[in-house]
Formats: sequence, structure tokens, C-alpha cells
Amino acid sequence: MRSMTTFDLQYAHRFYGFKGEAQYLHGHTGTLTIEVEDTINEGVNMVFPCNEIKKTAWDVLRNFDHALILREDDPLLPAVLDVYTKQGIRHGHPQNTMKGEAFKTELATAYPDCRLVVTKETMTVEGFIKIVYDLLKDKLNIVKITFSSGDNKGSADFAPRGTMDRCPLCGIALNEQGICPKCGYKKK
Ligand SMILES: [Zn+2]
Ligand SMILES: [Zn+2]
Repeated sequence: MRSMTTFDLQYAHRFYGFKGEAQYLHGHTGTLTIEVEDTINEGVNMVFPCNEIKKTAWDVLRNFDHALILREDDPLLPAVLDVYTKQGIRHGHPQNTMKGEAFKTELATAYPDCRLVVTKETMTVEGFIKIVYDLLKDKLNIVKITFSSGDNKGSADFAPRGTMDRCPLCGIALNEQGICPKCGYKKK
């Protein structure tokens, strides 16, 4: 069975080199849905607590919220960084507190200090789904990701990656030692 979670992300981007209005900088509220598949965890009668899926995903994905997302070869990138540097906000600001952990993958690099994500490919809904799966595939048994942004909507299915040991009291994944990081339950 599946557990699903949905959340909104507000971001600015553009399609560099695209022959349409999307080549101009603009913003969206995008809605992301993540579906996680596993057996029913007998103790709690759920696959996975949705608030825990959201927490795990949001730790990483908040980097995209209220962020500017530019492709690595976009000439706006050095221009924006130049302005941020001159303004003294390139490496953070005391009021920039709602930050995620910085990350760098093959597909994207997050610079939370200046709310910027640099992507290898254009940040379409399809591009974002690839980035999200890549960031979260080892943390969650993701079988489907859906992302909608303006008139654009995309989804992708992924092969289930087997079952995870979960706490029968909290429902969350046990660590490598078989211990629940939330309540301390230990697998016998
Ligand atoms: Zn757009
Ligand atoms: Zn527990």
C-alpha cells in the first residue's frame, strides 16, 4: 500500500534559451506529491506516517522554497551573484533563517545562504521530479512523484525498493542498529 504527502513550494525560475514567455524570470507556487510504498506496518497500521515523510522531504526540499532556481549556464547566474555580493547578502543574512541543508548532486546544487539552487538541466516539472527522486531515493521508498506548477504537471513512477524496518510504536524507519530514533524502541 502507499502513503502520500503533498506540499507547496514557491520559487522563481526561467527557461533559459526557450523560445517563449518562460524565458523571462517569473515565479510559481508548485505542488509536489510524494508517494511511498511498503507493507502495512502492523504495530501502527500504516505504511509510513505522512508527517514523517513530509519532514524528511522538507529538510532537503525547503532549499527550493522561496528560492531562485537557475540553470548552470544561465548568464543571469553570475549577474545575480554579483548583485548579491555587492549587497553583502551572497553568504547569508541574519534574517535568512528558514534554510535547508546545503546539498550538491549531479543534477543540482543548493546555496541556502543566498536562497539559490543551480541546476544542470532546465527546471521544468519533469526536471524537478528527477532532482527530487535523486535527493530522496535513499531516504524514502518512493514509487511516484507528481509535480504541478502553473499549467504544467508531470509525474513519474519508480520501482519499489523493498521494505524498510519501521518502529511498531511510531511507524518511522529504524536506524542501522534497529533502534527507533524517536522513541528508542529496539528491534528484537
Ligand atoms: Zn515557470
Ligand atoms: Zn518509535
